[in-house]
Amino acid sequence: MTPRSLAVFASTLLLCVSVASAAAQVDEARIARADPAEWLTYGRDYAETHYSPLSDITTANVGQLRPAWSWTLPKTGARPEATPLVVDGVIYATGPYSYVFALDARTGELLWHWDPGIPEEEQGGPSVCCGNVNRGVAVFGDKVYVGVLDGRLVALDRATGIVRWAVQTTPRDSDYSITQAPRVVAGNVIIGNSGAEFGVRGYVSAYDAETGELSWRWHTVPGNPALGFENEAMRRAAETWSGEWWVVGGGGTVWDALAYDPRLGLLYVGTGNGAPWSRDQRSPGGGDNLYLASIVALRAETGEYVWHYQNTPGDDWDYTAVQPMMLLDLTIEGRQRAVVVQAPKNGFFYVIDRINGEFISASAFADEVTWASGVDPETGRPIETPEARYGMNGRGAWLSPGPGGAANWRPFAWNPQTQLVYLPMQNNQSWYEMVQVNYRQGQRNLGVARGADVVRPDPPPLRGPAGALKAWDPVANREVWRFETDGQNGGALSTGGGLVFWGSRNRIVALDAAAGRLLWEAPVGDQPSTPVTYELDGRQYVTIMGGNAPPSVHTFVLP
Ligand code: CA
Repeated sequence: MTPRSLAVFASTLLLCVSVASAAAQVDEARIARADPAEWLTYGRDYAETHYSPLSDITTANVGQLRPAWSWTLPKTGARPEATPLVVDGVIYATGPYSYVFALDARTGELLWHWDPGIPEEEQGGPSVCCGNVNRGVAVFGDKVYVGVLDGRLVALDRATGIVRWAVQTTPRDSDYSITQAPRVVAGNVIIGNSGAEFGVRGYVSAYDAETGELSWRWHTVPGNPALGFENEAMRRAAETWSGEWWVVGGGGTVWDALAYDPRLGLLYVGTGNGAPWSRDQRSPGGGDNLYLASIVALRAETGEYVWHYQNTPGDDWDYTAVQPMMLLDLTIEGRQRAVVVQAPKNGFFYVIDRINGEFISASAFADEVTWASGVDPETGRPIETPEARYGMNGRGAWLSPGPGGAANWRPFAWNPQTQLVYLPMQNNQSWYEMVQVNYRQGQRNLGVARGADVVRPDPPPLRGPAGALKAWDPVANREVWRFETDGQNGGALSTGGGLVFWGSRNRIVALDAAAGRLLWEAPVGDQPSTPVTYELDGRQYVTIMGGNAPPSVHTFVLP
């Protein structure tokens, strides 16, 4: 070996050693410990609280936050919806068309990127209802996991971005797609899918994190009974359906929220709307249509059904229950309760016992809810208004919320100091009128009249702002304060510095967590995503993605 090659060899060896020591294993114990300096999983912790104890940035000094660095994605075509992860000084996130990238969290320097090369829909790419978006990655062991728009789950090498394994989780050339961020629990990568607007049968899958082998799969709705049921939960669910629901698939896709309680060994799954939207087209004669629009608890290791709570029985309105869930421990009426809370599309904030699925409370968080007048405190079932069942009535109706929902993919955040949930919400309404479905793959099969040419009366006035961040007391189940906006907002982050950061319209804002006062704001581009915070070299950083064409990653720090 020449002296020069020896020197190169030695420096390569040194590099290997430093990379290896920096990139310590990410295992479940490390995720459960949730070091405040890092952001190891989508909600920062398995409970999905989007809360960081970091407290260097406070209500007193947040006004001095200034840009540290920004990086612009070389990829356009969708708004950013990712919550970045921060592990061992590296930011891992995604952009349009399932594009994955790793940045140095100190400088914003690109370390590697991986583009799966998904074509646009017009060029043969996947059919998507709501944008070629992606909500981020999971990091576990020495790999980064991403759900790709074409239905693949891909494991990338954490250090290089090279593909380690890839599995097709959906039938090829089907109407399934993936926009969800995976989670890793009990040694498996959990991934669901999207596609209920076109007509698919929803399910969630678990793949061995090391090998990519399928560990278990749980369907959210029953298939054709003539083919037999996969399990007892499907047999019971089939009793709540009628007609030939399996032709259009039934829906119930798991396209966003997951949460995990390691102590109980339970994985919480939010399920989507019915396919078609109209229940009369899907299940003539009615029925609750289990397990649509439900929170379902599964045994994390096996995927076995444990309990469910259906927040919209017999969904008729695209009222998914895939919206973010978080696991909280609260004292309610003098009792310690382990709960799961959710603010789904249907406009009600739910508090459910996460051990057994018992209904605790629900109240409207949208300023106007017209499909139901409330939720029965005894049964936990919605009290539907007379105009709500537009199909059974044979009469169209303006109802709020609309299919965009009173909440959607935007994460809410918890703060243990204020005991408040910070909930990005929106007020909207839609005209619901049943039309005949002639099912065809590759087209929307809604059973509801859509589009500009539909003849309908003028919409009634709608109460409340277009959007707001609401501070919500989950014990009393009521609003404490609100910060109103007029446009497309993102997700929330709360911190130990008494702050709430929120992607709002075309900026990031910092609010006082106790009172909702605006303390700081900075432009980040339209349709911002969800902020995260981390600490490196004793300095606290705040990062958010924003902008549409193309998106950028913006990072802020104190001087
Ligand atoms: Ca939907």
